[in-house]
Amino acid sequence: MPELPEVETVRRGLTPAMEGALLVRAELRRPDLRFPFPADFSTLVSGQHIVSLGRRAKYLLIDLEGGDVIIAHLGMSGSFRVEEGQMPDTPGDFHHPRGKDEKHDHVVFHLERAKGPARVIYNDPRRFGFMDLTRRDTLASHVFFRDLGEEPTGNVLDAAYLAARFAGKAQPLKSTLLDQKNIAGLGNIYVCEALWRSGLSPLRASGTLVDAKGKPKKTLVLLTEAIRAVIADAIAAGGSSLRDHIQTDGTLGYFQHSFSVYDREGEPCRTPGCGGTVARVVQAGRSTFYCPKCQK
Ligand SMILES: [Zn+2]
Repeated sequence: MPELPEVETVRRGLTPAMEGALLVRAELRRPDLRFPFPADFSTLVSGQHIVSLGRRAKYLLIDLEGGDVIIAHLGMSGSFRVEEGQMPDTPGDFHHPRGKDEKHDHVVFHLERAKGPARVIYNDPRRFGFMDLTRRDTLASHVFFRDLGEEPTGNVLDAAYLAARFAGKAQPLKSTLLDQKNIAGLGNIYVCEALWRSGLSPLRASGTLVDAKGKPKKTLVLLTEAIRAVIADAIAAGGSSLRDHIQTDGTLGYFQHSFSVYDREGEPCRTPGCGGTVARVVQAGRSTFYCPKCQK
């Protein structure tokens, strides 16, 4: 499942192809993905210029000149690819070999640009992704966004912000960090990685990182830094993977990281000098990977 860094990588990859382009036509090849497309989706977006591409949590936001915003979520298996040049039925004009099964191409954005036509194609074999349409001026109150906490990428996510949310909580750190009302877009993988980096147990009560005056303890300062660092590192890794992808098949969506604890059950802990073994426990139905020896 794509997490925030993957979505950010997709945004960065699509931006040069889409920003400033005329969205000539949005071609829907089926009436629904996880949910039905909004009524008149294609009619409403077609003929508008694309102003910019943004992201909130794991949602890609495509801003159109008329104030409409296309909201796209990649679900479990969604990806975009860019095809530049003439239409695919024009012989000899394919820049990219086909890397994806075309029967899962569900949406095609046909673009006109100063540098030539392009198609941005959404492919999703499992169809857990979805698209919605809203207005920029009401975006913050949209049901997907109104309860979201701060992004783990900006300066607003600091130890004082988290202290206010952690204070007095007996809830395990893992659950508090996964709660999207606290941090938007932070998922299972990066919660595990950030807790490992900061030497904190996922089972520990969240309130133990806050002092009696409601101020963050040193542990919470380290955890906050670790959250921002794991996300920044993953986005940086996505950027390098993006360059590779563009050179191959134009597909944007997934890249492999080497994780320090995630999915490493039974393997040696990578904390220097620790000598512990990565364990797996299930919390709220999700696997948590951590080192019981150095994460306290
Ligand atoms: Zn360890």
